[in-house]
Amino acid sequence: MKTDLPTAIDVLPEDSASEFMLHSRAIGRPANPLVSCLLPAFNEEGNILPMLDTLHTLMNDLGLRHELIVVDDGSQDATVERVMSVMDVLPVSLIQLSRNFGKEIALTAAIGEAQGDLAVLIDCDFQHPPELIPAFIEQWRRGYDMVFAVRSDRNDESFLKRIFTHAFYGLLNFGERNKIPENTQDFRILDRVLLDALNIMPERNRFMKGLYNWVGFTRLGIKVRTDPRRHGKSSFNFFSLLRLAATGLTAFSNVPLRLWTVVGGIISFASIAYAVFVVIETLLYGNDATGWPTLVVAITFLGGVQLLSIGILGEYIGRIFTEVKQRPAYFVSRIVRSRQLPTKPSNKQ
Ligand code: UDP
Ligand code: MG
Repeated sequence: MKTDLPTAIDVLPEDSASEFMLHSRAIGRPANPLVSCLLPAFNEEGNILPMLDTLHTLMNDLGLRHELIVVDDGSQDATVERVMSVMDVLPVSLIQLSRNFGKEIALTAAIGEAQGDLAVLIDCDFQHPPELIPAFIEQWRRGYDMVFAVRSDRNDESFLKRIFTHAFYGLLNFGERNKIPENTQDFRILDRVLLDALNIMPERNRFMKGLYNWVGFTRLGIKVRTDPRRHGKSSFNFFSLLRLAATGLTAFSNVPLRLWTVVGGIISFASIAYAVFVVIETLLYGNDATGWPTLVVAITFLGGVQLLSIGILGEYIGRIFTEVKQRPAYFVSRIVRSRQLPTKPSNKQ
């Protein structure tokens, strides 16, 4: 396959699987795969058509049968109208969600719709360079079930955001066997086995980067640059990222819960030691009612620790509540499929 790469890519060696493992996966790959391109779109009227066009041209150049799946995540602008305008010429499926559910759910809906032997997940705003897709597919042919982009740097982000991200991944992966790599992006390729696995993961609180990682299979990270957004502005602000971080932590880590057992243990031990000290001191020197500041500090400190730990319990319980309600993760208001969609599923081996 021809790969004209305008940008240097750097394969991360720590993720590579053994040659035997790769070979065993590669021999099952269909020679003429159907590729599903999955695009979550929220207010992307400026980007969606150029992106669909770019992907269609790219896939045609590569001689790959493909479908373009756009999940409209409750856009308030002309995104849907734009997609409808190319229904007759491009192999597009439009899944319109009943409201804005957020990117993780939009991706979930897109994965559920994908018919392909493999899927390409890509943002609509050209921050993920589409010209890298051939290199990703090449690795898929070598036997990798998931190929994902890793940011080559985070220079476009503020210092504070970088610190928070680093702390988040540190906490998330603390003591975990299956670590979620830092700086990965939603720009990735998923083989059918991953799509099927993700489709049967029932949770409603979906932190996709955690789910991709949890399911396993052979995977490879590729360092890529991130381009600036072409049109419009990012939908994520500090608070939406904080919410996503809380979902990720509560879904994939029990460290915040366990932490309080340790803190509680240390404080209890210290207070017992202090009590013993006070008893001995009183017996030896008598009690002249000192220690008022110590009392206030002890009470306020413990009050703070208790409130904080109750708050953390609340985060988990809130999410357990969402899961037990068993609501569907999203509702679809309509699905429109183009006549240009490839009809026959490929012959899977
Ligand atoms: N997106 C979405 N639902 C949302 C927010 C974003 O489907 O609620 C889509 C958006 O259209 C884009 C991708 O997710 O294709 C990434 O969003 P954005 O560029 O706003 O995020 P950033 O690149 O800043 O992380
Ligand atoms: Mg973006």
